[in-house]
Amino acid sequence: MSAYVQKLMAQVKSRNAGEPEFHQAVQEVVESIEPVLERYPHYREAKILERIIEPERSIVFRVSWVDDEGHIWVNRGYRVEMNGAIGPYKGGLRFHPSVNMGVLKFLALEQVFKNSLTTLPMGAGHGGADFDPKGKRDQEIMRFCQSFMDEMHRHIGPNTDVPDGDIGVGGREIGYLFGHYRKLRNEFTAVLTGKGLNWGGSLMSTEATGYGVVYFAEEMLATRNESLDGKTCLVSGSGKVALSTMEKLIDVGAKVVTFSDTGGSIYDPEGIDREKLDWLKELKNIRRGSVREFAEEFPSAEFTSAESGDVEENPLWRHQAACAFPCAHQYEISSKDARTLLQNGIQQVVEGANMPTTPEATKLFRDHKILYAPGKAANAGGAVVSGLEIAQNSMHYSWTREEVDHRLRIIMKNIHGTCLDVAEEFGTPGDYINGANIAGFVKVADAMINQGV
Ligand code: NAP
Repeated sequence: MSAYVQKLMAQVKSRNAGEPEFHQAVQEVVESIEPVLERYPHYREAKILERIIEPERSIVFRVSWVDDEGHIWVNRGYRVEMNGAIGPYKGGLRFHPSVNMGVLKFLALEQVFKNSLTTLPMGAGHGGADFDPKGKRDQEIMRFCQSFMDEMHRHIGPNTDVPDGDIGVGGREIGYLFGHYRKLRNEFTAVLTGKGLNWGGSLMSTEATGYGVVYFAEEMLATRNESLDGKTCLVSGSGKVALSTMEKLIDVGAKVVTFSDTGGSIYDPEGIDREKLDWLKELKNIRRGSVREFAEEFPSAEFTSAESGDVEENPLWRHQAACAFPCAHQYEISSKDARTLLQNGIQQVVEGANMPTTPEATKLFRDHKILYAPGKAANAGGAVVSGLEIAQNSMHYSWTREEVDHRLRIIMKNIHGTCLDVAEEFGTPGDYINGANIAGFVKVADAMINQGV
């Protein structure tokens, strides 16, 4: 680490104490960007790096709401508007008890590079609340969303900030949020993406992230004259990203043998086919049940409880496979998991989730030169289709599923090509982290310079 990076990281840690996810996100970016600053000193003179890691605005607010029994609850809501240089702030909303400012700043920073890579005119932000939607009835979710929007509506708008979903925020929550925004503002505008199909949503928005992950993975394998067809794959999670990743993996002929949720993981050596996936979608999206029930329904599947193991090791990553798709949450692959995966001959790790790999595990994957793609590049498909939803809304027109999918596929292919070209140009061929960070950085940095301090 150079003296410059050391000094910058020391400042970041002291100004953002107790935010380890944000520190990791900054460190990874700073290390990748260093050669760019050396080659183009005007970025350093303009303090672009120092500015890009500081949110333009962070909003924190009280969200009080009443449950079905009449009890009052108080949660904390947030919106981090990270960078608006290339378009209105754009990024997810996360409802999960682990949400805090550090987590949202890391997500918002990742979004700066991700949205830039898509080539669409989108700035970056992220928000959410420390609210746990698990086990809540629909009416309670609705009242929470309405209270959240009572404050959020002041800060968002189609030309200002356009949030979408993330962990704990799917179609149901976007519906309640949008309905309340419309009521408060008396306007029907493209203020959120991930909307329902009959009220301004785009086809493919549910599938976009996972399909994009698989398109990216296929591009990576093609560089080694390989494909996913016939390969055994490990997927974690069973939410929006995991289910759509599994669906596309099945479509391209891969064999998916695992998935998980907060309660534990499933290993099915016979593989998940369309019929099993449809059953799982119904379980998670409609009945909102636990993956444990999958093993009760399908005898070939084994369930391992999350409580049964070591916190440093996720049993899901112990199974032999060619490719791994972490699609649940941050830090779900520890260095111990990474070693196990490498010992078992893993060829490819593609991040569907944001920062699912710890810094030590990331180093191991990079050192072993396996095909390893960071979330900010591989999971950009959700951001792409959000951008396409905004484009369709502004034209008052809807593209067909085939048109959206075609655009998504082209953009994911371009992101892949850009990452590879830029990594090569800066002397680290095949390093997708460097490629994604540098390519994402340059576009935003140039816009910031054009717009002055
Ligand atoms: P989601 O629909 O809420 O699903 C999250 C999944 O992960 C669920 O299966 C959940 O289990 C599991 N999970 C969450 N926290 C966990 C924990 N601490 N331990 C074990 N399992 C855990 O969320 P999502 O939208 O799929 O997002 C998943 C990841 O992808 C996140 O990192 C998100 O930032 C990233 N991402 C999402 C999008 C998007 O378009 N939604 C786009 C890009 C990246 P339960 O079912 O038990 O809750």
